[in-house]
Amino acid sequence: MSSQQLRLSDEELIQLCHRVEVSSSLSFEELIYLVQLDERQAQILFATADRVRQRMVGDAVHLRGLIEFSNICIRQCQYCGLYCRNNQVKRYRMKEDEIFATAEHAVKMGYPSLVLQSGEDPFYNTHIERLAGVISRIKNELKVAITLSAGEFSKTDYQRLKDAGVDRYLLRFETSDAKLYRELHPDSQLDDRLQCLQYLAETGYQVGTGFMVGLPRETPEIFANNLLLLKKLNVGMVGIGPFLPNQDTPLKGEASGTSLGTLIAVALTRLLLPDTNIPATTALGTLDKDGRIKALQAGANVMMPNVSPMEFRELYKLYPNKLCVTADQGRDTAIKLVESIGRVVSFSAGHAPLRK
Ligand code: SF4
Repeated sequence: MSSQQLRLSDEELIQLCHRVEVSSSLSFEELIYLVQLDERQAQILFATADRVRQRMVGDAVHLRGLIEFSNICIRQCQYCGLYCRNNQVKRYRMKEDEIFATAEHAVKMGYPSLVLQSGEDPFYNTHIERLAGVISRIKNELKVAITLSAGEFSKTDYQRLKDAGVDRYLLRFETSDAKLYRELHPDSQLDDRLQCLQYLAETGYQVGTGFMVGLPRETPEIFANNLLLLKKLNVGMVGIGPFLPNQDTPLKGEASGTSLGTLIAVALTRLLLPDTNIPATTALGTLDKDGRIKALQAGANVMMPNVSPMEFRELYKLYPNKLCVTADQGRDTAIKLVESIGRVVSFSAGHAPLRK
């Protein structure tokens, strides 16, 4: 099929979706067409992704408690409110005891799985033992599944963190286009990020990655290539969120990504990687109040309510207008939301498939 075709009939789109349900593969040209679907035809894609989700990972929605333990970052990601040149943000690094106490509270609230997230805090590059120490304590005393998302480290450090008890690692590539990547990350390059993803896979992590939808200068070709890169990396977790311009960053005047584009990315990810874990992200919920429900109905099967102490919540602002509620409210809202669409909350660790 050529992407030059302006439109598939509904019948042709249904046939294409049926074919993908069986093959889990799409050509570059097909993807270019699909990432530009209009709202009406996108419903056909979402229904297909929802069917594949049901068949491959069931009706369970896994809840992970998110702890944002440091907003200090040395990186210059041009879209991010925590980028190092933003001096409007008050920086914090939670003490190890605070991280443990937050994890303990989350476990008491019923979370079987935690996500520890931070900026790329240089303290941990020189004090990896401190991070490994608190992870090891959480793992040994609380017996929970642990996902870490703390940026780029050496392979040796990834190994140290794995040995300490981290099960999964999230490191999004954000865009598959090397030139755009460089523009958005002036201190970094795509190859470095892909190398880190390779290290993580070799170290035996359940690896997660993902991208942003609607970045400035993103084209349908780049969008399609983002999805093909996911397929090639064959990861067990995929996080996808819309670009949301932050007033304290160089991209403050740009248009945000769309809810529709983000949902299309979620649905196509489910079709290309049928058994992967896909969160309904808070960023999407910020853009569209029903965004997380729509994502759960377009292929997603994970939610990550924030359990960080309230005093730090406001300070961890990757993007503006972040949803900010107490840990209890966040969990209760997530449970209600899941049950409102006839799905069930899972209280198991919800491990991602390990790839060889
Ligand atoms: S996206 Fe992550 S690495 Fe980049 S500036 Fe923000 S916190 Fe730092």
